[in-house]
Amino acid sequence: MLGLMQDWPLLIHRIIDHAARQHGTREVVSRSVEGPIHRTTYAEVQKRSLKVAQRLARDGIQHGDRVATLAWNTWRHLEAWYGICGTGAIYHTVNPRLFPDQIAWIINHAEDRILLLDLTFVPLVEALAERLPTIERYVILTDAAHMPATKLKNAVAYEDWLAQADGDFRWAELDERTAAGLCYTSGTTGNPKGVLYSHRSNVLHSMALANPDAFNLSSRTAILPVVPLFHANSWSLAFSAPMMGAKLVMPGAKLDGASIYELLETEHCTATAGVPTVWLSLLQYVQNEKKTFSSLEYLLVGGSAAPRALIAAFEAMGINVVHAWGMTEMSPVGSLGAIKESVKDLAPDAILDLKAKQGFAPFGVEMKITNDANEDLPWDGKTFGRLKVAGCSVTSSYFRVDEKVLDDKGFFDTGDVATIDANGYMQITDRAKDVIKSGGEWISSIELENLAVGHPDVAEAAVIGVAHPKWDERPLLVIVPKPGTHPTRESLIAYMTGKIAKWWMPDDVQFVSEIPHTATGKINKLRLRDEFADYKLPEV
Ligand code: ADP
Repeated sequence: MLGLMQDWPLLIHRIIDHAARQHGTREVVSRSVEGPIHRTTYAEVQKRSLKVAQRLARDGIQHGDRVATLAWNTWRHLEAWYGICGTGAIYHTVNPRLFPDQIAWIINHAEDRILLLDLTFVPLVEALAERLPTIERYVILTDAAHMPATKLKNAVAYEDWLAQADGDFRWAELDERTAAGLCYTSGTTGNPKGVLYSHRSNVLHSMALANPDAFNLSSRTAILPVVPLFHANSWSLAFSAPMMGAKLVMPGAKLDGASIYELLETEHCTATAGVPTVWLSLLQYVQNEKKTFSSLEYLLVGGSAAPRALIAAFEAMGINVVHAWGMTEMSPVGSLGAIKESVKDLAPDAILDLKAKQGFAPFGVEMKITNDANEDLPWDGKTFGRLKVAGCSVTSSYFRVDEKVLDDKGFFDTGDVATIDANGYMQITDRAKDVIKSGGEWISSIELENLAVGHPDVAEAAVIGVAHPKWDERPLLVIVPKPGTHPTRESLIAYMTGKIAKWWMPDDVQFVSEIPHTATGKINKLRLRDEFADYKLPEV
Protein backbone atom coordinates (compact mmCIF):
# COMPACT_ATOMS: atom_id res chain seq x y z
CA MET A 1 0.00 0.00 0.00
CA LEU A 2 1.32 3.47 -0.85
CA GLY A 3 1.05 6.38 1.53
CA LEU A 4 -1.43 9.10 0.84
CA MET A 5 0.87 12.09 1.04
CA GLN A 6 1.45 14.62 -1.73
CA ASP A 7 4.02 13.95 -4.35
CA TRP A 8 6.08 17.14 -3.99
CA PRO A 9 9.15 16.65 -6.18
CA LEU A 10 12.44 17.81 -4.65
CA LEU A 11 13.33 20.47 -7.20
CA ILE A 12 16.11 23.00 -6.79
CA HIS A 13 14.05 26.06 -7.75
CA ARG A 14 11.79 25.31 -4.78
CA ILE A 15 14.75 26.34 -2.60
CA ILE A 16 15.07 29.82 -4.06
CA ASP A 17 11.26 30.25 -4.08
CA HIS A 18 11.23 29.37 -0.38
CA ALA A 19 14.13 31.72 0.37
CA ALA A 20 12.38 34.58 -1.47
CA ARG A 21 9.11 33.98 0.42
CA GLN A 22 10.44 33.30 3.93
CA HIS A 23 13.79 35.09 3.93
CA GLY A 24 13.25 37.59 1.13
CA THR A 25 15.18 40.44 2.76
CA ARG A 26 18.14 38.27 3.79
CA GLU A 27 21.24 39.50 2.02
CA VAL A 28 23.58 38.04 -0.56
CA VAL A 29 26.73 40.16 -0.44
CA SER A 30 29.51 39.72 -3.02
CA ARG A 31 32.91 41.14 -3.75
CA SER A 32 32.22 41.78 -7.42
CA VAL A 33 34.80 40.87 -10.02
CA GLU A 34 34.70 44.53 -11.12
CA GLY A 35 35.79 45.51 -7.59
CA PRO A 36 33.06 47.07 -5.42
CA ILE A 37 30.99 45.20 -2.83
CA HIS A 38 27.56 44.34 -4.26
CA ARG A 39 24.47 43.76 -2.12
CA THR A 40 21.26 41.99 -3.04
CA THR A 41 18.60 39.81 -1.36
CA TYR A 42 17.10 36.37 -1.84
CA ALA A 43 13.93 38.01 -3.19
CA GLU A 44 16.00 39.73 -5.90
CA VAL A 45 18.08 36.63 -6.64
CA GLN A 46 14.87 34.66 -7.19
CA LYS A 47 13.44 37.31 -9.55
CA ARG A 48 16.64 37.48 -11.55
CA SER A 49 17.04 33.71 -11.75
CA LEU A 50 13.57 33.54 -13.33
CA LYS A 51 14.87 36.02 -15.90
CA VAL A 52 17.92 33.84 -16.51
CA ALA A 53 15.62 30.86 -17.12
CA GLN A 54 13.40 32.87 -19.45
CA ARG A 55 16.37 34.28 -21.33
CA LEU A 56 17.95 30.84 -21.76
CA ALA A 57 14.66 29.48 -23.09
CA ARG A 58 14.63 32.32 -25.62
CA ASP A 59 18.15 31.34 -26.69
CA GLY A 60 16.76 27.90 -27.44
CA ILE A 61 18.09 26.06 -24.38
CA GLN A 62 16.03 22.94 -23.79
CA HIS A 63 15.63 20.28 -21.15
CA GLY A 64 18.86 18.37 -20.64
CA ASP A 65 21.08 20.92 -22.44
CA ARG A 66 24.30 21.85 -20.69
CA VAL A 67 25.07 25.49 -19.88
CA ALA A 68 28.59 26.06 -18.59
CA THR A 69 29.82 28.57 -16.05
CA LEU A 70 33.44 29.64 -15.62
CA ALA A 71 33.06 31.98 -12.70
CA TRP A 72 33.92 33.00 -9.15
CA ASN A 73 31.46 33.01 -6.24
CA THR A 74 29.20 36.02 -6.82
CA TRP A 75 25.46 36.72 -6.86
CA ARG A 76 25.43 36.45 -10.65
CA HIS A 77 26.87 32.95 -10.59
CA LEU A 78 24.31 31.99 -7.93
CA GLU A 79 21.28 33.27 -9.86
CA ALA A 80 22.65 31.67 -13.05
CA TRP A 81 22.66 28.24 -11.35
CA TYR A 82 19.04 28.55 -10.27
CA GLY A 83 18.01 29.91 -13.67
CA ILE A 84 19.78 27.17 -15.60
CA CYS A 85 18.36 24.22 -13.70
CA GLY A 86 14.99 25.94 -13.37
CA THR A 87 14.54 25.62 -17.16
CA GLY A 88 15.32 21.91 -17.00
CA ALA A 89 18.85 22.47 -18.32
CA ILE A 90 22.07 21.48 -16.50
CA TYR A 91 24.59 23.89 -14.93
CA HIS A 92 28.09 22.70 -15.75
CA THR A 93 30.67 24.29 -13.49
CA VAL A 94 34.06 24.48 -15.15
CA ASN A 95 37.06 24.76 -12.85
CA PRO A 96 39.29 27.59 -14.17
CA ARG A 97 42.28 26.12 -12.35
CA LEU A 98 42.37 23.14 -14.71
CA PHE A 99 44.88 23.20 -17.54
CA PRO A 100 43.47 24.93 -20.67
CA ASP A 101 43.60 21.60 -22.53
CA GLN A 102 41.46 19.97 -19.83
CA ILE A 103 39.00 22.87 -19.92
CA ALA A 104 38.56 22.45 -23.67
CA TRP A 105 38.27 18.70 -23.25
CA ILE A 106 35.48 18.82 -20.68
CA ILE A 107 33.47 21.55 -22.46
CA ASN A 108 33.57 19.39 -25.58
CA HIS A 109 32.78 16.23 -23.67
CA ALA A 110 29.79 17.92 -22.03
CA GLU A 111 28.76 19.58 -25.34
CA ASP A 112 27.96 22.80 -23.54
CA ARG A 113 25.83 25.20 -25.64
CA ILE A 114 26.30 28.49 -23.77
CA LEU A 115 29.21 29.58 -21.61
CA LEU A 116 28.73 32.20 -18.90
CA LEU A 117 32.09 33.58 -17.82
CA ASP A 118 33.61 36.17 -15.55
CA LEU A 119 35.71 39.03 -16.91
CA THR A 120 38.80 37.35 -15.43
CA PHE A 121 38.49 34.44 -17.84
CA VAL A 122 37.88 36.29 -21.12
CA PRO A 123 41.55 36.00 -22.25
CA LEU A 124 41.64 32.30 -21.33
CA VAL A 125 38.46 31.56 -23.28
CA GLU A 126 39.49 33.69 -26.26
CA ALA A 127 42.60 31.54 -26.55
CA LEU A 128 40.46 28.37 -26.46
CA ALA A 129 37.38 29.47 -28.44
CA GLU A 130 38.46 27.92 -31.74
CA ARG A 131 38.49 24.55 -30.01
CA LEU A 132 34.99 24.95 -28.54
CA PRO A 133 32.67 24.22 -31.49
CA THR A 134 29.57 23.43 -29.37
CA ILE A 135 29.42 26.85 -27.71
CA GLU A 136 26.88 29.02 -29.51
CA ARG A 137 27.09 32.08 -27.33
CA TYR A 138 29.30 33.61 -24.64
CA VAL A 139 27.66 35.60 -21.87
CA ILE A 140 30.13 37.77 -19.94
CA LEU A 141 29.07 38.13 -16.30
CA THR A 142 29.23 41.93 -16.19
CA ASP A 143 27.36 45.04 -17.28
CA ALA A 144 27.64 47.20 -20.42
CA ALA A 145 30.01 49.64 -18.72
CA HIS A 146 32.58 46.91 -18.04
CA MET A 147 32.05 44.86 -21.19
CA PRO A 148 35.39 44.29 -22.93
CA ALA A 149 35.84 44.36 -26.70
CA THR A 150 35.88 40.67 -27.66
CA LYS A 151 35.48 38.52 -30.74
CA LEU A 152 33.87 35.67 -28.77
CA LYS A 153 30.87 34.32 -30.70
CA ASN A 154 27.61 36.21 -29.97
CA ALA A 155 29.22 37.73 -26.89
CA VAL A 156 26.87 39.77 -24.73
CA ALA A 157 27.10 41.43 -21.33
CA TYR A 158 25.04 39.43 -18.84
CA GLU A 159 23.14 42.47 -17.59
CA ASP A 160 22.12 43.45 -21.15
CA TRP A 161 21.15 39.87 -21.93
CA LEU A 162 19.08 39.64 -18.73
CA ALA A 163 17.40 43.03 -19.36
CA GLN A 164 15.74 41.48 -22.40
CA ALA A 165 13.63 39.27 -20.10
CA ASP A 166 10.80 40.41 -17.82
CA GLY A 167 10.86 37.41 -15.47
CA ASP A 168 7.29 36.38 -16.34
CA PHE A 169 8.25 32.73 -16.47
CA ARG A 170 7.19 29.49 -14.83
CA TRP A 171 9.80 27.06 -13.64
CA ALA A 172 9.95 23.84 -15.62
CA GLU A 173 7.87 20.97 -14.28
CA LEU A 174 10.30 18.15 -13.79
CA ASP A 175 10.75 14.72 -12.32
CA GLU A 176 12.94 15.16 -9.24
CA ARG A 177 15.47 12.72 -10.69
CA THR A 178 16.11 15.10 -13.61
CA ALA A 179 19.77 16.04 -14.08
CA ALA A 180 20.54 19.48 -12.63
CA GLY A 181 24.31 19.92 -12.39
CA LEU A 182 27.50 18.56 -13.88
CA CYS A 183 30.96 18.74 -12.33
CA TYR A 184 34.11 16.99 -13.57
CA THR A 185 36.65 15.56 -11.15
CA SER A 186 40.11 16.86 -11.87
CA GLY A 187 41.38 13.47 -12.98
CA THR A 188 44.98 13.52 -11.82
CA THR A 189 45.33 10.44 -14.03
CA GLY A 190 43.43 9.95 -17.28
CA ASN A 191 40.67 12.22 -18.52
CA PRO A 192 38.40 14.11 -16.13
CA LYS A 193 35.11 12.34 -15.31
CA GLY A 194 31.72 14.05 -15.15
CA VAL A 195 29.52 13.63 -12.09
CA LEU A 196 25.88 14.37 -12.91
CA TYR A 197 23.80 15.56 -9.96
CA SER A 198 20.00 15.43 -9.95
CA HIS A 199 17.54 17.89 -8.42
CA ARG A 200 16.69 15.26 -5.82
CA SER A 201 20.29 14.44 -4.89
CA ASN A 202 21.18 18.11 -4.48
CA VAL A 203 18.09 18.92 -2.40
CA LEU A 204 18.53 15.92 -0.08
CA HIS A 205 22.25 16.56 0.30
CA SER A 206 21.60 20.20 1.18
CA MET A 207 18.89 19.29 3.71
CA ALA A 208 21.27 16.87 5.41
CA LEU A 209 24.09 19.43 5.55
CA ALA A 210 22.06 22.30 6.97
CA ASN A 211 21.80 20.47 10.31
CA PRO A 212 23.56 21.35 13.60
CA ASP A 213 26.06 18.47 13.43
CA ALA A 214 26.88 19.41 9.85
CA PHE A 215 27.04 23.02 8.64
CA ASN A 216 24.87 24.27 11.50
CA LEU A 217 22.96 26.73 9.31
CA SER A 218 20.00 28.82 10.43
CA SER A 219 18.29 32.07 9.48
CA ARG A 220 20.71 33.78 11.92
CA THR A 221 23.86 32.40 10.24
CA ALA A 222 26.00 34.54 7.93
CA ILE A 223 28.26 32.22 5.95
CA LEU A 224 31.16 32.95 3.63
CA PRO A 225 31.84 30.03 1.26
CA VAL A 226 35.47 30.39 0.19
CA VAL A 227 35.00 27.00 -1.44
CA PRO A 228 34.13 27.87 -5.03
CA LEU A 229 30.87 27.01 -6.78
CA PHE A 230 33.09 25.29 -9.35
CA HIS A 231 34.54 22.97 -6.72
CA ALA A 232 32.05 20.17 -6.10
CA ASN A 233 28.86 22.23 -5.72
CA SER A 234 30.53 24.56 -3.18
CA TRP A 235 29.77 21.83 -0.64
CA SER A 236 26.01 22.49 -1.10
CA LEU A 237 26.17 26.06 0.23
CA ALA A 238 24.48 27.63 -2.80
CA PHE A 239 21.46 25.52 -1.84
CA SER A 240 21.68 24.90 1.89
CA ALA A 241 22.23 28.59 2.80
CA PRO A 242 19.12 29.92 0.97
CA MET A 243 17.16 26.88 2.16
CA MET A 244 17.77 28.01 5.75
CA GLY A 245 17.71 31.76 5.09
CA ALA A 246 21.37 32.17 6.02
CA LYS A 247 23.08 35.30 4.72
CA LEU A 248 25.54 34.44 1.94
CA VAL A 249 28.80 36.34 1.60
CA MET A 250 30.53 35.65 -1.70
CA PRO A 251 34.26 36.43 -1.97
CA GLY A 252 34.50 36.83 -5.77
CA ALA A 253 38.02 36.49 -7.13
CA LYS A 254 39.93 37.55 -3.99
CA LEU A 255 40.74 34.55 -1.84
CA ASP A 256 43.90 35.77 -0.05
CA GLY A 257 44.03 35.98 3.74
CA ALA A 258 43.62 39.77 3.94
CA SER A 259 40.59 39.91 1.63
CA ILE A 260 38.83 37.00 3.32
CA TYR A 261 39.51 38.47 6.76
CA GLU A 262 38.10 41.83 5.68
CA LEU A 263 34.83 40.30 4.41
CA LEU A 264 34.44 38.05 7.47
CA GLU A 265 34.68 41.12 9.67
CA THR A 266 32.74 43.74 7.70
CA GLU A 267 29.86 41.35 6.98
CA HIS A 268 29.82 39.92 10.53
CA CYS A 269 30.13 36.35 9.28
CA THR A 270 29.46 33.61 11.81
CA ALA A 271 30.61 30.73 9.61
CA THR A 272 32.92 30.01 6.72
CA ALA A 273 34.03 27.02 4.63
CA GLY A 274 37.16 26.25 2.62
CA VAL A 275 40.19 24.04 2.00
CA PRO A 276 43.19 23.89 4.38
CA THR A 277 45.48 26.04 2.18
CA VAL A 278 42.99 28.92 2.39
CA TRP A 279 42.92 28.66 6.18
CA LEU A 280 46.71 28.47 6.38
CA SER A 281 46.96 31.78 4.54
CA LEU A 282 44.21 33.36 6.67
CA LEU A 283 45.98 32.16 9.80
CA GLN A 284 49.30 33.61 8.67
CA TYR A 285 47.56 36.90 7.97
CA VAL A 286 45.85 37.19 11.37
CA GLN A 287 49.01 36.12 13.20
CA ASN A 288 51.28 38.57 11.34
CA GLU A 289 48.82 41.47 11.58
CA LYS A 290 47.77 40.63 15.17
CA LYS A 291 44.08 40.54 14.20
CA THR A 292 41.21 38.87 16.03
CA PHE A 293 37.82 37.61 14.85
CA SER A 294 34.79 39.45 16.23
CA SER A 295 31.93 37.29 14.91
CA LEU A 296 33.31 34.04 13.48
CA GLU A 297 32.08 30.97 15.40
CA TYR A 298 32.28 28.11 12.95
CA LEU A 299 34.94 27.13 10.46
CA LEU A 300 34.54 24.22 8.07
CA VAL A 301 37.62 22.70 6.58
CA GLY A 302 37.82 19.90 4.04
CA GLY A 303 38.92 18.92 0.56
CA SER A 304 42.21 17.63 1.90
CA ALA A 305 43.37 16.64 5.36
CA ALA A 306 43.31 19.51 7.85
CA PRO A 307 46.48 19.42 9.95
CA ARG A 308 45.85 19.17 13.71
CA ALA A 309 48.02 22.27 14.27
CA LEU A 310 45.74 24.30 11.98
CA ILE A 311 42.63 23.12 13.81
CA ALA A 312 44.26 23.87 17.17
CA ALA A 313 45.22 27.41 16.11
CA PHE A 314 41.65 28.38 15.18
CA GLU A 315 40.16 26.58 18.18
CA ALA A 316 42.50 28.61 20.42
CA MET A 317 40.78 31.73 19.02
CA GLY A 318 37.41 30.38 20.21
CA ILE A 319 36.29 29.12 16.79
CA ASN A 320 34.64 25.71 16.47
CA VAL A 321 36.53 23.94 13.67
CA VAL A 322 34.67 21.13 11.91
CA HIS A 323 36.66 18.90 9.62
CA ALA A 324 34.76 17.41 6.70
CA TRP A 325 35.60 14.87 4.04
CA GLY A 326 34.03 14.16 0.70
CA MET A 327 34.48 14.05 -3.01
CA THR A 328 32.86 15.35 -6.19
CA GLU A 329 31.20 11.93 -6.60
CA MET A 330 29.41 12.42 -3.24
CA SER A 331 27.89 15.86 -3.99
CA PRO A 332 30.43 16.21 -2.18
CA VAL A 333 30.20 15.83 1.62
CA GLY A 334 30.53 12.33 3.12
CA SER A 335 31.46 12.96 6.75
CA LEU A 336 31.84 15.74 9.32
CA GLY A 337 33.53 15.89 12.68
CA ALA A 338 30.99 17.28 15.14
CA ILE A 339 31.47 16.12 18.74
CA LYS A 340 29.05 13.34 19.71
CA GLU A 341 27.66 12.90 23.21
CA SER A 342 29.75 9.74 23.64
CA VAL A 343 33.04 11.66 23.29
CA LYS A 344 32.21 15.11 24.61
CA ASP A 345 33.92 14.60 27.96
CA LEU A 346 37.30 13.63 26.51
CA ALA A 347 40.30 15.74 27.54
CA PRO A 348 40.99 18.77 25.30
CA ASP A 349 43.95 17.04 23.62
CA ALA A 350 41.89 13.97 22.80
CA ILE A 351 39.12 16.20 21.41
CA LEU A 352 41.70 17.80 19.11
CA ASP A 353 42.87 14.35 17.97
CA LEU A 354 39.26 13.53 17.18
CA LYS A 355 38.75 16.80 15.30
CA ALA A 356 41.74 15.95 13.13
CA LYS A 357 39.83 12.84 11.99
CA GLN A 358 37.37 13.28 9.11
CA GLY A 359 34.25 12.68 11.18
CA PHE A 360 31.12 10.57 10.89
CA ALA A 361 28.63 10.15 8.08
CA PRO A 362 25.44 12.23 8.15
CA PHE A 363 22.05 10.65 7.34
CA GLY A 364 22.00 9.83 3.65
CA VAL A 365 25.52 8.39 3.56
CA GLU A 366 26.42 4.79 4.40
CA MET A 367 30.09 4.05 4.89
CA LYS A 368 32.25 0.96 5.35
CA ILE A 369 35.86 -0.16 5.12
CA THR A 370 36.76 -3.35 3.33
CA ASN A 371 39.75 -5.52 2.49
CA ASP A 372 40.75 -6.51 -1.05
CA ALA A 373 38.21 -9.37 -0.94
CA ASN A 374 35.47 -6.78 -0.27
CA GLU A 375 34.87 -8.11 3.24
CA ASP A 376 33.90 -5.62 5.93
CA LEU A 377 36.66 -4.64 8.35
CA PRO A 378 36.11 -3.82 12.05
CA TRP A 379 35.41 -0.30 13.33
CA ASP A 380 38.28 -0.32 15.84
CA GLY A 381 40.09 2.88 14.83
CA LYS A 382 43.17 0.85 13.87
CA THR A 383 42.37 -1.44 10.94
CA PHE A 384 42.87 0.32 7.58
CA GLY A 385 40.73 -0.55 4.60
CA ARG A 386 39.30 0.76 1.37
CA LEU A 387 36.61 3.30 2.15
CA LYS A 388 33.34 2.57 0.34
CA VAL A 389 30.12 4.56 0.34
CA ALA A 390 26.49 4.43 -0.73
CA GLY A 391 23.71 6.98 -0.39
CA CYS A 392 21.11 9.27 -1.92
CA SER A 393 23.70 11.77 -3.19
CA VAL A 394 26.45 9.37 -4.26
CA THR A 395 27.14 8.82 -7.96
CA SER A 396 26.04 5.59 -9.62
CA SER A 397 28.14 6.12 -12.79
CA TYR A 398 29.98 8.84 -14.71
CA PHE A 399 28.52 10.99 -17.47
CA ARG A 400 28.98 9.29 -20.85
CA VAL A 401 31.41 6.70 -19.51
CA ASP A 402 30.43 3.09 -19.97
CA GLU A 403 32.09 1.63 -16.91
CA LYS A 404 30.68 0.00 -13.78
CA VAL A 405 31.65 2.00 -10.69
CA LEU A 406 29.60 0.27 -7.97
CA ASP A 407 30.45 -3.07 -6.42
CA ASP A 408 27.90 -5.88 -6.29
CA LYS A 409 26.51 -4.50 -3.03
CA GLY A 410 25.94 -1.09 -4.62
CA PHE A 411 28.89 0.63 -2.91
CA PHE A 412 31.24 3.12 -4.56
CA ASP A 413 34.97 2.78 -3.91
CA THR A 414 36.23 6.24 -2.91
CA GLY A 415 39.87 5.43 -3.66
CA ASP A 416 40.66 6.45 -0.10
CA VAL A 417 42.08 4.27 2.65
CA ALA A 418 40.65 4.84 6.13
CA THR A 419 40.02 3.60 9.64
CA ILE A 420 36.68 3.93 11.45
CA ASP A 421 36.58 3.93 15.26
CA ALA A 422 33.99 2.49 17.61
CA ASN A 423 32.21 5.87 17.78
CA GLY A 424 31.88 5.99 13.99
CA TYR A 425 34.62 8.57 13.40
CA MET A 426 36.41 7.90 10.14
CA GLN A 427 40.02 8.84 9.52
CA ILE A 428 41.53 9.00 6.07
CA THR A 429 44.97 7.47 6.26
CA ASP A 430 45.72 7.93 2.58
CA ARG A 431 44.60 7.80 -0.99
CA ALA A 432 44.96 4.19 -2.11
CA LYS A 433 47.54 5.29 -4.68
CA ASP A 434 49.59 7.41 -2.24
CA VAL A 435 49.89 5.02 0.67
CA ILE A 436 53.51 3.96 1.26
CA LYS A 437 54.00 0.21 1.17
CA SER A 438 56.97 -0.68 3.33
CA GLY A 439 57.84 -4.31 4.01
CA GLY A 440 54.26 -5.43 3.29
CA GLU A 441 52.81 -2.90 5.76
CA TRP A 442 51.20 0.45 5.00
CA ILE A 443 52.45 3.86 6.13
CA SER A 444 50.04 6.79 5.97
CA SER A 445 51.55 9.71 4.06
CA ILE A 446 48.82 12.01 5.42
CA GLU A 447 49.63 11.22 9.04
CA LEU A 448 53.31 12.03 8.49
CA GLU A 449 52.44 15.28 6.68
CA ASN A 450 50.09 16.37 9.47
CA LEU A 451 52.75 15.71 12.04
CA ALA A 452 55.50 17.54 10.13
CA VAL A 453 53.44 20.74 9.67
CA GLY A 454 53.26 21.02 13.45
CA HIS A 455 57.01 21.88 13.41
CA PRO A 456 57.30 25.65 13.96
CA ASP A 457 59.43 26.27 10.83
CA VAL A 458 57.31 24.27 8.39
CA ALA A 459 54.89 25.99 5.99
CA GLU A 460 53.87 22.87 4.05
CA ALA A 461 54.84 19.19 4.05
CA ALA A 462 54.36 16.30 1.63
CA VAL A 463 55.36 12.67 1.92
CA ILE A 464 55.94 10.31 -1.01
CA GLY A 465 57.18 6.75 -1.21
CA VAL A 466 60.52 6.18 -2.93
CA ALA A 467 61.86 2.84 -4.08
CA HIS A 468 63.92 0.84 -1.60
CA PRO A 469 65.64 -2.47 -2.44
CA LYS A 470 64.78 -4.16 0.83
CA TRP A 471 61.52 -2.54 1.97
CA ASP A 472 59.96 -1.88 -1.43
CA GLU A 473 59.17 1.73 -0.55
CA ARG A 474 60.25 4.13 2.16
CA PRO A 475 58.85 7.59 3.03
CA LEU A 476 60.57 10.76 1.88
CA LEU A 477 59.49 13.98 3.59
CA VAL A 478 59.45 17.11 1.40
CA ILE A 479 59.28 20.43 3.26
CA VAL A 480 58.56 24.03 2.31
CA PRO A 481 60.10 26.10 5.15
CA LYS A 482 58.28 29.17 6.51
CA PRO A 483 59.77 32.39 5.08
CA GLY A 484 62.97 33.40 6.91
CA THR A 485 63.48 30.02 8.62
CA HIS A 486 66.03 27.26 7.91
CA PRO A 487 64.81 24.00 9.47
CA THR A 488 67.17 21.02 9.21
CA ARG A 489 66.66 17.32 8.57
CA GLU A 490 67.82 16.59 12.13
CA SER A 491 65.40 19.05 13.74
CA LEU A 492 62.49 17.49 11.84
CA ILE A 493 63.43 13.93 12.72
CA ALA A 494 63.88 14.99 16.36
CA TYR A 495 60.48 16.70 16.32
CA MET A 496 58.75 13.59 14.93
CA THR A 497 60.55 11.07 17.17
CA GLY A 498 58.26 9.50 19.76
CA LYS A 499 55.13 10.70 17.98
CA ILE A 500 54.99 7.84 15.43
CA ALA A 501 56.07 4.21 15.20
CA LYS A 502 59.83 3.99 14.55
CA TRP A 503 59.42 2.23 11.22
CA TRP A 504 57.18 5.09 9.98
CA MET A 505 60.01 7.65 10.32
CA PRO A 506 60.88 9.21 6.94
CA ASP A 507 64.26 8.01 5.66
CA ASP A 508 65.16 11.49 4.48
CA VAL A 509 63.98 15.11 4.37
CA GLN A 510 64.29 17.38 1.33
CA PHE A 511 63.66 21.14 1.31
CA VAL A 512 61.95 22.88 -1.62
CA SER A 513 60.55 26.36 -2.24
CA GLU A 514 57.22 25.06 -3.50
CA ILE A 515 55.12 21.89 -3.56
CA PRO A 516 52.93 21.38 -6.67
CA HIS A 517 49.11 21.50 -6.23
CA THR A 518 46.20 20.20 -8.29
CA ALA A 519 43.36 22.32 -9.63
CA THR A 520 41.35 21.61 -6.48
CA GLY A 521 44.15 22.70 -4.14
CA LYS A 522 45.47 19.27 -3.15
CA ILE A 523 49.12 18.30 -3.09
CA ASN A 524 49.88 16.94 -6.55
CA LYS A 525 51.66 13.72 -5.56
CA LEU A 526 51.94 12.58 -9.14
CA ARG A 527 53.98 15.63 -10.09
CA LEU A 528 55.95 15.55 -6.87
CA ARG A 529 56.91 11.93 -7.54
CA ASP A 530 57.99 13.01 -11.04
CA GLU A 531 60.11 15.79 -9.58
CA PHE A 532 61.84 13.26 -7.32
CA ALA A 533 62.05 10.52 -9.96
CA ASP A 534 65.88 10.58 -9.91
CA TYR A 535 66.17 10.95 -6.16
CA LYS A 536 67.90 8.16 -4.23
CA LEU A 537 67.66 7.61 -0.47
CA PRO A 538 70.97 8.35 1.35
CA GLU A 539 71.61 4.76 2.41
CA VAL A 540 70.70 3.24 -0.97
P1 ADP B 1 39.55 15.86 -7.20
O1 ADP B 1 38.89 16.30 -8.43
O2 ADP B 1 40.79 16.58 -6.82
O3 ADP B 1 39.64 14.36 -7.02
P2 ADP B 1 37.63 15.92 -5.05
O4 ADP B 1 37.29 17.12 -4.27
O5 ADP B 1 36.53 15.11 -5.59
O6 ADP B 1 38.54 16.46 -6.15
O7 ADP B 1 38.63 15.02 -4.23
C1 ADP B 1 38.17 14.06 -3.32
C2 ADP B 1 39.31 13.52 -2.52
O8 ADP B 1 39.90 14.51 -1.72
C3 ADP B 1 38.89 12.46 -1.54
O9 ADP B 1 38.74 11.21 -2.16
C4 ADP B 1 40.03 12.50 -0.54
O10 ADP B 1 41.14 11.75 -0.98
C5 ADP B 1 40.43 13.94 -0.52
N1 ADP B 1 39.84 14.61 0.64
C6 ADP B 1 38.75 15.38 0.70
N2 ADP B 1 38.55 15.85 1.95
C7 ADP B 1 39.52 15.35 2.71
C8 ADP B 1 39.86 15.44 4.11
N3 ADP B 1 39.16 16.18 4.95
N4 ADP B 1 40.94 14.76 4.52
C9 ADP B 1 41.67 14.01 3.68
N5 ADP B 1 41.42 13.89 2.37
C10 ADP B 1 40.36 14.55 1.88
